[in-house]
Amino acid sequence: GSGGDLKAADVDMVVKQHAPLCMQTLHNALCQNKHLKHGGRMQYGLFLKAIGLPIKEALSFWQTAFTIKTEEQFQKEYAYNIRHNYGLEGKRVSYTAYSCSKIIKENSPSSGDYHGCPFRHFSQGNLEATLYKNKIPVNQVKELMNLVRGSHYQMACTKYFEITHPDHEKISIIEHPNTYYELSLGETDD
Ligand code: SF4
Repeated sequence: GSGGDLKAADVDMVVKQHAPLCMQTLHNALCQNKHLKHGGRMQYGLFLKAIGLPIKEALSFWQTAFTIKTEEQFQKEYAYNIRHNYGLEGKRVSYTAYSCSKIIKENSPSSGDYHGCPFRHFSQGNLEATLYKNKIPVNQVKELMNLVRGSHYQMACTKYFEITHPDHEKISIIEHPNTYYELSLGETDD
């Protein structure tokens, strides 16, 4: 749920343990590059908000992550957008996290972007390498790649969940990154 008590310092741990591949990809890119472009900041920022990162912690998380930026640059270029996502600026709409179908169908990533769905937007070579890096056994990589080749991206993500959570009870198809996260945490409402 989104109790809103997640600390900036705990994001790394909970994301690595429980977030779906799309959000792991954004998190890794952010750690590596100390930056994310707008599409990535939106997709990842709204996900983090929905897993319970309050605005104060979000500002601290992003400022720490963007260490290549000065305090002044950060305030000028990014803080407004983060507050905006929390409904504290502009039209004061509190924006909701993106669903899988939105991530898969809208706003395809260009080079230098890390948003999107890895099952949909990675090249086959990059996806395969990522799956092996995440210790998915070869037969299951083949199974996942077959789903992807058949354009069954969310089924591949659901299968990925099953492979990486072998003791979890059967789940229905993943429709939202935040559902994936909550299932992994064991906080299902239904
Ligand atoms: Fe993320 Fe959804 Fe793609 Fe899974 S299917 S990686 S949750 S966008």
